[in-house]
Amino acid sequence: MNKTVSDTFETQLRARRDELTERLHRHRGGARGRAEAAADKREQAGEAGLTPDDAFDLGGALGEREAAELQAIERALQRVADGSYGLCLQCGAAIPAARLHAQPTAERCVSCQAAAE
Ligand SMILES: [Zn+2]
Repeated sequence: MNKTVSDTFETQLRARRDELTERLHRHRGGARGRAEAAADKREQAGEAGLTPDDAFDLGGALGEREAAELQAIERALQRVADGSYGLCLQCGAAIPAARLHAQPTAERCVSCQAAAE
């Protein structure tokens, strides 16, 4: 996958991650001021993202489905970082861009996914 294309997905993944983490912070920090929340947001936007383990701990506040999504996003961002993003975890084939557009966290090509289900 070329760099520009993976950058596009990275931006999309980060935006979704921010959305989920922001929801989590609203859930936790009800009485906190707006400035403080904004500072948190800047912090989260940095490179020090959540690890998959952190995301797992968030399960209680976010709900199982969203916590799983957050973990999938963290794994996808990790693959962007190490250059394996967009490759099927199972067979190593390039996952079609259309599939990634529909689901940026896709980890398998269509046929491996079908075989796994
Ligand atoms: Zn595959």
